[in-house]
Amino acid sequence: MTRLLIVGPPGAGKGTQAARIASRFDVPAIATGDIFRANIKNQTELGKQVSEIINAGDYVPDSLTNDLVANRLKEPDAAGGFLLDGYPRTLEQLGFLDKLLAAQGTALDAVIQLVVDPNEVVTRLLKRAHEEGRSDDTEDTIRYRQSLYQRETAPLIAVYKDRGLVIEIDALGEVDEVADRIAECLEARQIVPVAQ
Ligand code: AMP
Repeated sequence: MTRLLIVGPPGAGKGTQAARIASRFDVPAIATGDIFRANIKNQTELGKQVSEIINAGDYVPDSLTNDLVANRLKEPDAAGGFLLDGYPRTLEQLGFLDKLLAAQGTALDAVIQLVVDPNEVVTRLLKRAHEEGRSDDTEDTIRYRQSLYQRETAPLIAVYKDRGLVIEIDALGEVDEVADRIAECLEARQIVPVAQ
């Protein structure tokens, strides 16, 4: 049973690494950003509520995001562990997740922090915006999302550091190299996939 978080500024490569780790540990990668985008695409009630906020690069209100995650973690595929990507992003969400896990008698095993150079991530995001046509990725919103991350989300790392959960990973380099670094650091903590 492996419960992980991956955290880092927008453009650090969280989604790519999350998919790798999740498949290695055979747990679902749960990305709140992806879930919101799917809701916008399918024009659900939630999608309508959040589309403007997301396009502006702001954070969706904690209450909506927390409900979404609480429901997602109740799905059977998350019973054997999970990898959260892009959640929690505020101290309020962190506290909510703590309570949610405590109520199940569980807790996180580790927090993978992707560390990147701020200029490098802006370049990466501009490239991705071009390739994927993400409407929340204009240069202004990219810069705004970076500052929001620094202000609202970076402080969460200190909380998890105090709990001894944080694994710092240099996220510059090839996808495979970064994936190997993550795997090594998890192994060093005896966090390994259960043998099939
Ligand atoms: P991401 O794909 O993780 O960059 O998320 C895309 C957008 O979805 C963010 O810029 C926010 O607007 C919204 N979002 C995703 N996760 C959260 C969260 N945990 N709290 C608030 N807003 C979120």
